[in-house]
Amino acid sequence: MTRVNTVLGPIAVEQLGFTSIHEHIGYGMPGSELDTRWWKTPEQRYEETIPKLRTFAAHGGQTFVDATGICNGRDIDYYQSIAEKTGLNIIAATGFVGGDTALKHFAEASVEYLTDQFIHELTVGIGTSGGKAGIIKVGVSRGFKLTALDLRIYRAAARASLATGAPIITHLAVDAATAIDALQEEGLPLTRVLFGHADDGVSQGKVDEEGIVSAGGRIGFDTFGYDLELPDPPFWGRHRDERFQHLMRYLRSGQADKVLVAADANCSPLGWPGVKGHTINYLFEQLIPDLRQDGVDDATIDQLFIGNVADFFTTSTPDTLNSEGK
Ligand SMILES: [Zn+2]
Repeated sequence: MTRVNTVLGPIAVEQLGFTSIHEHIGYGMPGSELDTRWWKTPEQRYEETIPKLRTFAAHGGQTFVDATGICNGRDIDYYQSIAEKTGLNIIAATGFVGGDTALKHFAEASVEYLTDQFIHELTVGIGTSGGKAGIIKVGVSRGFKLTALDLRIYRAAARASLATGAPIITHLAVDAATAIDALQEEGLPLTRVLFGHADDGVSQGKVDEEGIVSAGGRIGFDTFGYDLELPDPPFWGRHRDERFQHLMRYLRSGQADKVLVAADANCSPLGWPGVKGHTINYLFEQLIPDLRQDGVDDATIDQLFIGNVADFFTTSTPDTLNSEGK
């Protein structure tokens, strides 16, 4: 039985249930915590976050994967209190959104140092919170090309994944061939990797989806709701129907097992206003109704949010994360 670390302790993979694989409780650029104009009291943060997550739970959501990682506002004690208040399983990430959000201390670290750091957070814990990471985050720096630092982080992530069984999610699926080469060189099966944001507006034409799928990787449709139809859409936005039809091509061609779906919502943005009108609940309030209207059956919807997620977390290799079992 594979076990997965939530911030409150490990659970069986079968207990994950309906999961959004790429979300943020609070996300901001490194340093935003020093910008006093954006400071929020704990009460303000709860007020912005808890109602959205309670709605998610009321709709049937069970697990929230926080893809924030080190340096972008990750706060384990706070996540633990939110898990307690909402009843959701919250999974925290070790790793980085990308080399360009890794602060100097990490940016100058070796692959070996980063590997040890990730394994420590996955098996011993994050600080003294008692909470452990359950997933590893990596990503492509701005510019659509993996930098040398991005690649050190990818290699460290691959080693930590092999050592612990934790899967990897990426920020951006561009420059996939370079990522695949590095990950395969480290001996990591690509089924352990979700290439995220393959569905966003700015990545279109830059993602080798066939290359990812044929190498065994998974495709992230994980920016649902960042629609150009929003009153003030972000630069990575995309027309709602275009993104939807992109996903439907996978479902219609019998490749539903290759994709994972999420909203990449930011419950309480740090150092910026966030994107108005976008929450994790887009999944239940817009996407699932859209899927049903297009004739997608409940079994396929369950596969996207339950079966594929369980499969992504399931590892056949013995690992320290699971053998600890406590
Ligand atoms: Zn994200």
